Amino acid sequence: PNKSLGQMFDETVSKMPDTPAMIFAGHTVTYRQFGDQVNRFATALADLGVTKGERVGLMGPNCPQWEVAFFALLKLGAIVVQTNPMYVEPEIAHQMNDSGATTIIVFEMMYPRVKNVLQETPLQRVIVFNFLAPVKAAPDMYSYDDLIKCEPALPEVAIDPAEDLAVLQYTGGTTGISKGVMLTHNNLSANTQQVIEWSIDMKYGDERILTILPVFHVYGMTDCVNYAVAVAATQIILPRFDPDQVLETIRAYKPTLFPGAPTMFMALNMHPRIAEYHESLAEIKVCTSGSAPLPLEVAQKFGMVTNGKGNLVEGYGLSEASPITHCNPLDRPTRAGSIGLPLPDTDYIITDLETGDKELPIGEIGELCIRGPQVMKGYWEKPQETAETLRNGWLHTGDMARMDEEGFCYIIDRKKDMIIAGGFNVYPRDIEEVLYKHPKVKEVVVAGVPDAYRGETVKAFIVLQANTEATEQEFIDYCRNKLAAFKVPRLVEFRNELPRTIVGKVLRRQLVEEEKAKIQ
Ligand code: ATP
Repeated sequence: PNKSLGQMFDETVSKMPDTPAMIFAGHTVTYRQFGDQVNRFATALADLGVTKGERVGLMGPNCPQWEVAFFALLKLGAIVVQTNPMYVEPEIAHQMNDSGATTIIVFEMMYPRVKNVLQETPLQRVIVFNFLAPVKAAPDMYSYDDLIKCEPALPEVAIDPAEDLAVLQYTGGTTGISKGVMLTHNNLSANTQQVIEWSIDMKYGDERILTILPVFHVYGMTDCVNYAVAVAATQIILPRFDPDQVLETIRAYKPTLFPGAPTMFMALNMHPRIAEYHESLAEIKVCTSGSAPLPLEVAQKFGMVTNGKGNLVEGYGLSEASPITHCNPLDRPTRAGSIGLPLPDTDYIITDLETGDKELPIGEIGELCIRGPQVMKGYWEKPQETAETLRNGWLHTGDMARMDEEGFCYIIDRKKDMIIAGGFNVYPRDIEEVLYKHPKVKEVVVAGVPDAYRGETVKAFIVLQANTEATEQEFIDYCRNKLAAFKVPRLVEFRNELPRTIVGKVLRRQLVEEEKAKIQ
């Protein structure tokens, strides 16, 4: 597409000025107003000295102010450092130091955490916003509300969409080290365009998107924010996932698109009054699930609660690919358990697990490798990790997958999560799928835990359905009839809940660390 995100934004503002851009807490902002706020805030940032290429932290919940700041930074050519609002002091300090951010735009509630680490970071300016009430400036910080009052007079900034970075997207750290993924303007506008081409039934200027995924996460940023702006859609923005509020919002504002994560659909399935919302849910054209595997049971149940009409399709992506690379096609029935086909302009191959360089034939399990315009430029200041991940023109995802005869892709598991128990390869997901079918299981995660004899042993962490009792042995016996002996969990532990990231990924690593700590 060769377009900067600022250009994409300006085009929609000038074509569709009166279309509602955002609805938040009952208040509507049109694209004209959105454009005006972005230009004012960008002018104020430029006056403060924010320049092209400068890294700027953006930390806050989903809200119009976050989105204004996002596009203002992009128009200036500044690089948005996506900062997780849940981060505590050491994590904030690490990210600001790693990225070299000189400015941070932060939600008022999180400001004290930023303040505590200012001295340890290169940060020179702090801008504070809030959606509940205007922020009062203080000697050590600027108020968003004061800054946005300035007269718009934007400087000309030349942006090369293919080379210039738009965002540093820190990987979630599910597997450990958090790295800054360098995404260019082209990477992000290309991925938006690819999703538009995939969504066949989309009408420019006429869609409503439920923005409930966190927008600081790459999936929410692309599939809600950038996609909405590219197709002049209205975002219905919620700052946090509350099932009651989500269902009421769906009934009141009738979104046509609902990008979500498996845990969200799980929570809606279990809502006690879900039956009252059947019709509203069935009116959504497409619900997409990504960021973690969508258990078959969850997809089927969602079909039931929407009277068979809830169009829930599974897709796949990763920060390193802006993020979306695959999704089930909309013009034919979705394939359960598959992440679908590659998006337009995206190629994929499966390579051998040992070297990662040899392409494997159809049906064999290996590492999923991706090529396309959405693939990152590299990791910020990490040439070695970049060279390990981007090899021979392919992005090595670290996920194990297989391809079927028709090109559909199936994720088996993360390479790092594969359990080697007594010399056998065990994929946690195979066992989770079996246990999810057990009527007493609400949630389950399987991990390899250290075992003196077998190296690793298979352990299932289970959250039981409400008001149910069970013994550990019950689940072991259940698996015996359904899985090869080496896959059957040797250990079962009941938990009240599972540790998860903000987009619902189970923190397997945390569970394994706990097990290791028990042994020491
Ligand atoms: P890390 O820091 O370890 O890379 P992360 O999980 O936060 O952590 P993301 O880029 O947010 O990194 O997530 C990408 C990963 O999410 C993929 O590599 C894959 O393992 C997982 N994933 C995304 N969608 C799916 C899906 N539909 N099925 C299975 N796994 C998925």
